[in-house]
Amino acid sequence: MRRAIVAANWKMHGRLAMVRDYLAGLQGRDGEYDSVELLLCPPSVYLPALGRGLDAGAVGLGAQDCSPEGEDGAFTGEVSARMLADIGCHYVIVGHSERRRRCGETDALVAAKFAIAQAAGLTPILCVGETAAQRDAGEAKETVKAQLEAVIGQVGIAAFGSASLAYEPVWAIGTGRAATPETAQSMHGVLRQTLASHDGDIAERLRILYGGSVKPANAAELFAQPDLDGALVGGASLVPKDLLAIVAAAAAAAAAAKH
Ligand code: PEP
Repeated sequence: MRRAIVAANWKMHGRLAMVRDYLAGLQGRDGEYDSVELLLCPPSVYLPALGRGLDAGAVGLGAQDCSPEGEDGAFTGEVSARMLADIGCHYVIVGHSERRRRCGETDALVAAKFAIAQAAGLTPILCVGETAAQRDAGEAKETVKAQLEAVIGQVGIAAFGSASLAYEPVWAIGTGRAATPETAQSMHGVLRQTLASHDGDIAERLRILYGGSVKPANAAELFAQPDLDGALVGGASLVPKDLLAIVAAAAAAAAAAKH
């Protein structure tokens, strides 16, 4: 069975006061994470403060992005994957739709970040997802397949042996309109089949998260889907008790799947 991941993407939110509130909210809850991997992805500047306060091992740290450059150098404003690994980060999100759209990140750039992250010892979480226009045009499946194939083509399928994938329909992010469990399952199935056409074992082991308006109220029905292995949570992750309610839903789904 694949162990679920719940990853909190704070995006560009937070202050030290929020880090303190968060740590207080997580205090004493470590046992709850046994069946679920909990991952916190604050803005990079807050990673050290959050990391210092977390019980090592119980909660993972992730970054929201990294530079595609592997070597230190004259890249003003960039944060390298090696630096993130150096401060105790375990994961990095690559290809989030906000970066694809706002920063013009292409599949090739996303693949370069994926490879550099792995070379630094980080686990990339590759985000793919279609826009509302692409879905309305009947191109949702082709779009996400093409995004995934572009990265496989550049880094090779073996690299997905130590990576995760997140299906994040652009129309569901921050809108309050999550994909239905059926839509999410169907797209996760497409992604797993795409991986399986290259390597069945990797496809079976790889965790595919869903992202897009996941809340405590809809988490259980999403986690009940067989190809949904956790969530990438934006807005709801800003409130520790909501994030913990989503973790509890993932733990309940894992317990139900065992019976
Ligand atoms: C995200 O930013 O990855 C995300 C899924 O955001 P939200 O949960 O707010 O839709």
